[in-house]
Amino acid sequence: MKHSAVKFDTACIHAGQAPDKLFGGVSVPIYQSSTFAFEDADQGAARFSGKDDGYKYTRIGNPTTAVLENCIAELEGGAAGLATATGMSAISTVFMTFLGAGKHAISTGSVYGPSRTLLENELGRFGVESTFVDTSDAQNVKTAIKSNTALIYIETPANPTLSITDIVAVAKIAKEAGIPLVVDNTFCSPLLQKPLKLGADIVLHSMTKFINGHSDVVAGIVVAKNLELRSKMHKVLCQMGGTIDPHQAWLVLRGVKTLALRVKSAQASAMRLAEELEKHPKVEWVKYPGLKSHPQYELAKKQMEGPGAMISFEVKGGVKAGKTVMDSVNLSTLAVSLGGIESLIQHPASMTHAGMGAVARAEAGISDGLIRFSVGCEDFEDIKADLWQALDKI
Ligand SMILES: *Cc1c(COP(=O)(O)O)cnc(C)c1O
Repeated sequence: MKHSAVKFDTACIHAGQAPDKLFGGVSVPIYQSSTFAFEDADQGAARFSGKDDGYKYTRIGNPTTAVLENCIAELEGGAAGLATATGMSAISTVFMTFLGAGKHAISTGSVYGPSRTLLENELGRFGVESTFVDTSDAQNVKTAIKSNTALIYIETPANPTLSITDIVAVAKIAKEAGIPLVVDNTFCSPLLQKPLKLGADIVLHSMTKFINGHSDVVAGIVVAKNLELRSKMHKVLCQMGGTIDPHQAWLVLRGVKTLALRVKSAQASAMRLAEELEKHPKVEWVKYPGLKSHPQYELAKKQMEGPGAMISFEVKGGVKAGKTVMDSVNLSTLAVSLGGIESLIQHPASMTHAGMGAVARAEAGISDGLIRFSVGCEDFEDIKADLWQALDKI
């Protein structure tokens, strides 16, 4: 059942999820089966030739997974989804589909660390070239295009600098050059940003973050604007093997039902926290798309349906002060990842972005004292009191 007529919050609960036909189960059944029986040899042959679209083998497709794919595709306004074992498996599926020896990719300088390492180090070994630019100036993307550019891969807001790329402007450049544009939408979730509607060809998520939202699953998804792109990536995913497990898909289906509730609650706290952090004497600066001080505040307002739940800030006193804060929080958890129901705090320079090296970090604007805070759904006063007592320890 298509729910495109309903509001986003409603679609989170119902999209793709009709009651089960066999027994009427309101929750989607978990088809925990690696393989599917054929009625006869002809049916088996028809499934492999594509004449019959029934299920064959879970690496290729599974009914529980298909519900999740349809649900997220609908939330993103895309034609079809392709769920994967992790966010990185969604990203590697995209890279393996569009890149190859002699091909070139352009990406955001401060893109998610492993996405950059995968392009530069791993795919670099197979003859893929990559250029990382500050995509918050769309002109930099245009300048970086070469005759062999086969992919433009952006992340906005970028991690952890929260700098914003104008999706409409980059989509225009990509379209003129005939290059597919892929957007990592993990930081926003489909509630706050719909890249396909802004002109992207493909949008992807680490569903480990906001979509699942409970820090208990790793998963990813790619949503394509048309079936042809989905089919190209599906072929690659089937050979590479980064398929999601049906139970994992079901857990994400359970998490996504509260996506709108969670993100709205966390975002409301994040907005207040960012405003108050900006006035805090121990804080050097705060980067949050909802603050007027964000260099791209107007673009954020135009492109995103809300500023989100991620805040980056720099405490006075560099790495040492940052460590003091992280060692002093009690309610917020010192952990990487983001978008969970619980508040998480981390230090990119020594954790998630340690692998990219000091030079690349400086170029990407990731300072040594930068703290990344993923605001959760705890009561605002509790989140604030905990962070403030930690800042007092500096
Ligand atoms: C976490 C994350 C990923 C990778 O996802 P995994 O599920 O950890 O593989 C990719 N992009 C962004 C922006 C992320 O935050």
